[in-house]
Order: sequence, then structure tokens, then C-alpha cells
Amino acid sequence: MRRPTWTTHTPTMSIGNHHCRLFFGETLTDFEPITKDQRDEVGDTLWRHLFSQGFLVERVRHRSFIQIVLSLLLLTLLMGSSIGSGAVGLPKEQSIIGILQRSQRVLWIGAHPDDENSSGGLIARAKDTSGALFMVSLTRGENSDIVWGGLCRGSQIGRARAALFAQSAALFRADGYELGPFINGPHSLEELDRQCPPGAPFRGWPPTTTSDEVITKWRREGDPVKYIVAILRRYRPQVVLAMDRYCGVSGNPEHIAVARLLLEAIPLAADAQSYPGTGNPWQVEHVIFSAHVIPPLIQCHYCKCEGQEPQQPVQDVSALDRSRLHDMTYFRVSCLVAKTYQNTMQQRGWSESQIQALCAQAERDALRAYQQGIRTYPLVEPYRLYPVQ
Ligand SMILES: [Zn+2]
Repeated sequence: MRRPTWTTHTPTMSIGNHHCRLFFGETLTDFEPITKDQRDEVGDTLWRHLFSQGFLVERVRHRSFIQIVLSLLLLTLLMGSSIGSGAVGLPKEQSIIGILQRSQRVLWIGAHPDDENSSGGLIARAKDTSGALFMVSLTRGENSDIVWGGLCRGSQIGRARAALFAQSAALFRADGYELGPFINGPHSLEELDRQCPPGAPFRGWPPTTTSDEVITKWRREGDPVKYIVAILRRYRPQVVLAMDRYCGVSGNPEHIAVARLLLEAIPLAADAQSYPGTGNPWQVEHVIFSAHVIPPLIQCHYCKCEGQEPQQPVQDVSALDRSRLHDMTYFRVSCLVAKTYQNTMQQRGWSESQIQALCAQAERDALRAYQQGIRTYPLVEPYRLYPVQ
């Protein structure tokens, strides 16, 4: 008996380019198909649903049955009996699940509307177990590589993505959300608006762009550290979730820039002498960074990441625990958000009830896959707890 192993993959992603469709892109070109029997074994519908939103692709590396049994046994020993017990061998106070349970306010911060899809399970969990959830994106994703509905890059796409972010916040039942004043991509908003009509070619950051260059550009548009300090003082989160400053999930330098700006802003937000007029000082207690890295980056050995791989241990947090608030798994909440973006940006024309049905089926298949031993993103999401001074 042989089973396929699963990994996340988005073949439409080109390394170093500025993409944000990685979480629901669907054009698959370089996967190696598995046999129908193998597919049935892990759940055909899960394969279709998750595959179609760019979540999963099977790798052809197969393991023998005995290897599967042994690794499952080890996993069970490591993880304990609860699906959600991701904190392997860590003190209780460093368990991400425990920290979320003890927090009252959680802030998710990213660079673009749709970045939240990389942490959908944990964002849903944060709202379920904490008191309040807030979501902030520093840009409106104006320089989207995908355009739709006859819209032009710049103000028009920015408004459309802002509206999607509002829908996303509503699905997560966030208590507040906002979009920052910074502009996605290497151009100003005026330059993007001049690129209309919609057929104008996508012009993103060059592949060699670093987060330094992004931060320099954003500093010309405003003060991104001051902006984040004001956000932290307004929402007063004990916990902030973000993409990490190492790979930023996809190697996108804007993702990495947000993580770096966040770490710069946190001590300043707590310092009464800094940025007077932006609210009372506030000390964030925990930063949780997504450690998810998309496979094209892994395949080139983290070729677009910056600095050293963080030392903090990775905690795998299940997305398959059930949210009391949403009355479904965190995975399904995350699916509803991803499908909402996909529906609009790829002009699928799904009704709301069709999206509900797609995600209900994806949840059933995900649970079945989990029972069969699959422990990869997005069934579990990897995070690191980052120390806050
Ligand atoms: Zn992004």
C-alpha cells in the first residue's frame, strides 16, 4: 500500500516577482499527476477543492505503508491526542494556542488584501478564542498582477481589493479592519492610474528587490513606522500575527518589509516619548510569524528570503479544530475567505450558497485527509513565536 505525500504549491508563482495570487491561483503546469487510485485514497474532492485554490499539490515522492505507520506513530506521540496541540515540547507559556487563548485582542497585519489567506486558520482561531480581532493591510494591493472586471490597476483595483478585504474581515468576524496609505509595487498611485486601460502590462518590483527598497519607497509616501505605532496604540493587541521577516511566505519583499516595520514599531509604540499624538503607549506581548514558505522558494533553497532562518521552533497549529463562534472548522472559515477572493478576482460567478457548499465539502475532505495522516498546510499551519523585548 502506497500513499502520496502532499505539499503546498503554487506553480503560477514566479520567484521574486510580485504576486499575491499564490493563495488561490489555479493554473497548474508542473505537477506530476498521481494515479486515480492514489487520489481516491486521500479524497478526490479534497484534491479538487484545494488544488483548485492553489493550496495543495501532490508530490510523487511516495512512502511505503510501514514508513507512514511509523511516522504517524511518532506524530501521535509528539502531538498528543488533540488535533490542535501544535506546541511540541514547548513550555505552556510559549504555546501559540495557549497564548491566543489568554489574549483579549489580536491584530493581523499584512501588506496586501488577500495576504490573510496565508494564516486563515489561525486568524479564525484568534477570533474564536480571543476577545477581539483586528485586521490591517498596509496597501490596497493596487498593483495586482491579476486584473478583472474591466478594472485598471491603481485606484480601481485598489478599491476592489479593499472591498474584498472588508468581506474577508466580515467572514472572520473581525471587530475592525483598515487599509494603510502605502502603495503596492514600485510605482506611485498616479503612475498606476496613468497605466489604464486594463490591458496595460503588469510591472512589478524587479526580482532582486529587497525589503530595504520597499521601505525606502514607502517612506517617501508617509511614515510606515508611525502608521504601525498608531495602529498598535489604537487597537492595543496583546498578540500580533504577521508573515515573517525571513521569507514573508512567498519571498515578496513587501511582506518582509511589513514584518521588519512591525518589529521596529513595537518598542516605539511602548515608548511614551515616541510619536506623541498617536495615542497612549502600548506594549505588545507576543508576535506570531507565519513560518509557511511556498515550495518554489524551498526548491531554490530559500533563494528570495532575507537574512538567517529564525531560530525559534516551528509550531504546527491545526486548522481543523472547530470554532464555536463560526460553528465550523477554522479551515472552513479560511476556505470561505479564499473562495471569496477567488470568486471575484477570477470572475467565477459563484453564488454565496455555492461557495458555502464548496467549503463544506472541502472541510469534509480535509477532515478525512487528516484522519488518513496528512499533516501539511493548509490542514496545519506553521508558526513561530517571536520574542518581544
Ligand atoms: Zn501579498
